[in-house]
Amino acid sequence: MSSVPVAVVTGSNKGIGLAIVRALCKQFPGDVYLTSRDPGRGQAAVAQLQQEGLRPLFHQLDIDDLQSIRALRDFLKEKYGGLNVLVNNAGIAFKVHDTTPFAVQAEVTLKTNFFGTRNVCTELLPLMKPYGRVVNVSSMVSSSALGGCSQELQQKFRSDTITEDELVQLMTKFVEDTKKSVHQKEGWPNTAYGVSKIGVTVLSRIQARLLNEQRKGDHILLNACCPGWVRTDMAGPKATKSPDEGAETPVYLALLPSNADAPHGQFVSDKTVRPW
Ligand code: NAP
Repeated sequence: MSSVPVAVVTGSNKGIGLAIVRALCKQFPGDVYLTSRDPGRGQAAVAQLQQEGLRPLFHQLDIDDLQSIRALRDFLKEKYGGLNVLVNNAGIAFKVHDTTPFAVQAEVTLKTNFFGTRNVCTELLPLMKPYGRVVNVSSMVSSSALGGCSQELQQKFRSDTITEDELVQLMTKFVEDTKKSVHQKEGWPNTAYGVSKIGVTVLSRIQARLLNEQRKGDHILLNACCPGWVRTDMAGPKATKSPDEGAETPVYLALLPSNADAPHGQFVSDKTVRPW
């Protein structure tokens, strides 16, 4: 078994994920795994970074596919005995003018951004080694979408005692409510992406709390973040940050030094803790 530290970035064949891998290859003292649901796109991205003189490793990972997540889990367990850095970056967003029915957009967006990310956490968080760092890439849109929720929902999403099961029930209810066209009456904002990212931010707060309760002595730090508005296929060419600039906050959180005890369980943008 290798004692080399190991970092994994989900959805890293392009965009911000690829830039996070690039930065980690330069700054993380260990093996860095670029992962992609499509091996062809993943290997092409590895080749691109190799051209830049970097040495990322590759593993397939589709966060929508539990078997794929478990294959990565077993590989990490066997080869490294665990994991030091996990960046949950993979995500999707429908374009603003996409005509796909809202209920379908809700189901598909929540499936990857919330349920897929949660499944990765369920399988990989138990593997985190002491002083491990976990970064869940959320969005400022989670904050604005929270502001668009009913007072009752806002209270639930800001609660310090909400459980993962309760959060899953709420995310499932959103999808069901969109199918019945009652989501706005039920207090939800009209954004599937925004609700999915509320899920990611709240999940991060819950997971950090559980780490405090169950693994305090392991000094693991887990945070949600916004990368900013970044020029990628998702956000388009008018966005203000380059992918490398978008990677800065996730990489800062992934490389928090071993003597740091904060931030933890926070929502961070531009390397600054934001109110939730
Ligand atoms: P992007 O260029 O569209 O890249 C998204 C990445 O996620 C791609 O590698 C994509 O793979 C991957 N992915 C999607 N579904 C996946 C799945 N089921 N399993 C594994 N990988 C999957 O988007 P981006 O702008 O870099 O976004 C990265 C993250 O930042 C997302 O979580 C996004 O919500 C968040 N974010 C972005 C912005 C922004 O302004 N760009 C702002 C706030 C937050 P494929 O190539 O196979 O599709």
